[in-house]
Amino acid sequence: MKKAGHLLGVHCSVSGGLHNAFEEAGKLGIDTFQIFTQNQRQWINKKYEPEIINAFKKSWKSSSVITVFSHCSYLLNLASEDEVLRSKSIDALIGEVIRCNDLGLSFCVLHPGAAKGQTEAQALDHVIDALKQVFAETKNCTSKILLENTAGQGTSIGYRFEHLGAILKGVDSVRLGVCFDTCHAFAAGYDLRTKTTFDQTWMEFDRLVGRNNLLAIHLNDSKGDLGSRIDRHDHIGHGKLGMDAFRWMLHEFSDIPKILETEKEGDWDNMNLTKLRELN
Ligand SMILES: [Zn+2]
Ligand SMILES: [Zn+2]
Repeated sequence: MKKAGHLLGVHCSVSGGLHNAFEEAGKLGIDTFQIFTQNQRQWINKKYEPEIINAFKKSWKSSSVITVFSHCSYLLNLASEDEVLRSKSIDALIGEVIRCNDLGLSFCVLHPGAAKGQTEAQALDHVIDALKQVFAETKNCTSKILLENTAGQGTSIGYRFEHLGAILKGVDSVRLGVCFDTCHAFAAGYDLRTKTTFDQTWMEFDRLVGRNNLLAIHLNDSKGDLGSRIDRHDHIGHGKLGMDAFRWMLHEFSDIPKILETEKEGDWDNMNLTKLRELN
């Protein structure tokens, strides 16, 4: 029997230094977390000096953290029809993969992108080409890229399992996987509220994406309704998903790291984690 809260964590802050995330993890008693390796809303492309990498690895070693992963910048759009933005996004993703690899992070989570003026098929083709280029240029790295399902807000792609499946198939790399966000899936129209619809959703996922490609989970409740295509995370048990969905997620995916991405202000991380641990 695994302990309550096994591979359950939150998105940690790295303000004041990357290694500070381990301090937060220690306080919260979590064994996995997600970080931004640099400011997620800026076009910067850091390469970390050995001292920073060593400090990070040292803090990791003295912690009980098992898995750490990053979330890519929100600015990236590998699907863009604008060649300049697309190539900027490719460079940024290459930088992200290298940072992850240098820090020993298993993977970085990526939003597939937005189609804007194009068809979804054209947008998906751009993503496939871009990812092939990123993998070709980071051949000596082992860190993986995980496509996150989106809520389908605006012209975002990745809100249908078909999109994720098409990218996986098109890129065909062992370094590509999937991160499943419960809020996004629900907002995109995948119902997780009853056992029947929960199982149907996962059968769809198995058929179109493949369970073996699922390497991370974001556990967020949803402010938006089923199929609303609104990307607004809510605290666990406060949104439209209901606690059963989280209970089944914890039971079904006990060996996959699960991260909360809910508002951190006050004591919310602790309260959300406690709620989830009690479901175990
Ligand atoms: Zn995300
Ligand atoms: Zn997410």
